[in-house]
Amino acid sequence: EGRRLATLANAATRTRDEVAIRLLANAETPTDVALARTRGADGVGLYRTEFLFLRHKGLPTEDEQFNAYRDLVLGMGGLPVTIRTLDLGADKADAAGLVMRGEDNPALGVRGVRLSLRYPAVFTTQIRAILRAACYGPMRVLVPMVTQPDELIAVRTLFKLARQDLKRENIDLPEKLPLGAMIEVPAAAINVRSLLEHADFLAIGTNDLAQYVLAADRGNDALDNIYTPLQPALLRLLSHVIGAGRRAKKPVSLCGEIGGDVNFTAMLLALGLTEFSMHPSQLLLVRDRLATLDHAMLRSHCARLLRATTHEHVAELLAQLGG
Ligand code: PEP
Ligand code: MG
Repeated sequence: EGRRLATLANAATRTRDEVAIRLLANAETPTDVALARTRGADGVGLYRTEFLFLRHKGLPTEDEQFNAYRDLVLGMGGLPVTIRTLDLGADKADAAGLVMRGEDNPALGVRGVRLSLRYPAVFTTQIRAILRAACYGPMRVLVPMVTQPDELIAVRTLFKLARQDLKRENIDLPEKLPLGAMIEVPAAAINVRSLLEHADFLAIGTNDLAQYVLAADRGNDALDNIYTPLQPALLRLLSHVIGAGRRAKKPVSLCGEIGGDVNFTAMLLALGLTEFSMHPSQLLLVRDRLATLDHAMLRSHCARLLRATTHEHVAELLAQLGG
């Protein structure tokens, strides 16, 4: 079985009816990047930069960040990489003392882009490192925990200012650098059209989106019967976001854990997803599963799936569809 899967490392990713699917890697470490390459990822869909900040005493310098981001780009050998700006707060505490202390509800507090925008100098250091590294290969920038357009607008402004400074310093700049929004706050999903006016692409973070939609902590095992990706409310939101991205002709990927879980591959295809990002250890399993699935058939059952009213009902329908 392992040997059969290994032959898929260089194979194209297609459904049984020959629809091309993009498989991207979630990567943090050079080991992840190497694995993404050997398993034939089409790029990196999520690079979680907070790992640089968590490993560190104090804040990583601009050059330390630049080196890590450049190594990532070079390591992917010309394939596109998606760097997520700092996503500290809530379940991701920090070493440098940026995260607000004493919040009653840290998951609903100053986290992700909310925190980055509170510390423009720290954020600008990261932005400079990203801009410098983007000269070494194709890159996109992803903003976590976006709720409303003004956050994306503020990030764009910081990128513009950093570009002006780097230009004055005679440092090479990338021509363009697409900016995307994570969709992981319910308001961002419901009102996704407001973000599509300002984002070049979207990445759905189902780990947090499910947590916030269901009001169920993503790490609390006692809530397993509630915190399931099969929840009809979550399916309808995913379908809404994927459809809005398609109509706006902007790429939509999904980088939560379910992207790499073959139990949900059929469901995500049915909802219209064509870009999956996952831990690189899952790439071959998902590619293998996709080859057994009929995209047209699954899409034709999307409306039925969206009419389901309980997660048990969703599970039954998926079992009937061979998912
Ligand atoms: C998510 O929330 O689904 C996600 C991919 O981001 P993280 O797990 O890093 O919060
Ligand atoms: Mg998240």
